[in-house]
Amino acid sequence: MTPPRLILKPGREKSLLRRHPWVFSGAVERLEGEAEAGAEVLVADAKGRILAVAGYSPASQIVARVWSFDPEERIDAAFFRKRISAAMDYRRRLGLMEPDGGCRLVFSEGDALPGVVADRYGRFAVVQFLSAPAERCRELIADELMAAGMDGVYERSDASIRRKENLPERSGVMRGAEPPAEIVVTEAGDRFAVDVRHGQKTGFYFDLRDARQLVRRLAPGRRALNAFSYTGAFGAAAMRAGAAGVVNIDSSRPALRAAERNYELNGLSAPECVCADVFEELRRRVAANEKYDLVILDPPKLVASQRDLVRGCRAYQDLARLGFQLTAPGGFMLNFSCSGLLTMELLEKVTASAALEAGVAPVLVGTVRQAADHPVALAVPEGAYLKGRLNFVPAE
Ligand code: SAH
Repeated sequence: MTPPRLILKPGREKSLLRRHPWVFSGAVERLEGEAEAGAEVLVADAKGRILAVAGYSPASQIVARVWSFDPEERIDAAFFRKRISAAMDYRRRLGLMEPDGGCRLVFSEGDALPGVVADRYGRFAVVQFLSAPAERCRELIADELMAAGMDGVYERSDASIRRKENLPERSGVMRGAEPPAEIVVTEAGDRFAVDVRHGQKTGFYFDLRDARQLVRRLAPGRRALNAFSYTGAFGAAAMRAGAAGVVNIDSSRPALRAAERNYELNGLSAPECVCADVFEELRRRVAANEKYDLVILDPPKLVASQRDLVRGCRAYQDLARLGFQLTAPGGFMLNFSCSGLLTMELLEKVTASAALEAGVAPVLVGTVRQAADHPVALAVPEGAYLKGRLNFVPAE
């Protein structure tokens, strides 16, 4: 039985020819045959030439996501084995497969597996299926992760993005044992306790690995403010690297309790934690004329859609202004955005406007991106979601 065919409108095959894996609903002329959500479809141009094998997402604006640009390829166990082993091999080459560590094993389009995310915590894989096609292949993917040597596969498909595809949120054991309440992963000698069952996303932000390295380098002797601290990973890394002190701020009590555990695990005395709204807390501290040698601002995604862009930019700008106001002369301000729609150029503009508002004249010292286990396919620049800017505020 040949799979159903999604026929594109004339000229709408261009992005596929550039190996961009998304088919938008507006580009589709018609569907020949019947396809359920998640099913395999062949994508053809207006002349009927088959360009790719894709997964069908009728409820999404992205109506199909390419699994393979080889029209002959079947999306079966062997296909996922090949893609997962390639993803693991790449992490091995990066030196990210130490048994006591963790990393992102599969990063969606970056590993040619759209909608599939898998993080490795020691010997456990924690997976998220974020699209209908990924959902439909969930059992095959879990089997192949086990075949690749994992002790267990735990699902955390409780991301709100699933609603765009009418998929229910789901979490729980898929294969092997229930993960322990705490998995400790080691990074650069620091130890982090992760609760993969209840933590945010899959439990830990591996994408900030390079950023933590930057913070370790800047930390010695400095007093830091770590806003949106989550489980205090920047704080613990900075303290172990010799920071004079770190104030962690987050609105989540469980996250701050986890920060206490992370400090203890690293032989540090109890962290300074403030449970508050960062915007309000920073305003209070500006009013009290507080200054820090290193200010870290790592908010959650503030721009979720094009509609949020203006409002989101304003929020990033407010944060950066407060951050600059709290930075001591001769100190550093490190601000992040994990919103894919906010480009590095836009973050640059927002940060520059914030500096003007704060009355400081910082210089850009460096930038940092998501770590290499979150690869960005050159054909899919949208994958580059995380950006950070390190600003130095000169002493007057
Ligand atoms: N920097 C962290 C990751 C940050 S994730 C790390 O190193 O791991 C974003 C965090 O922001 C979450 O922990 C969330 O609880 C927190 N958060 C979101 N909105 C907030 C707000 N308005 N005030 C304080 N914290 C907030």
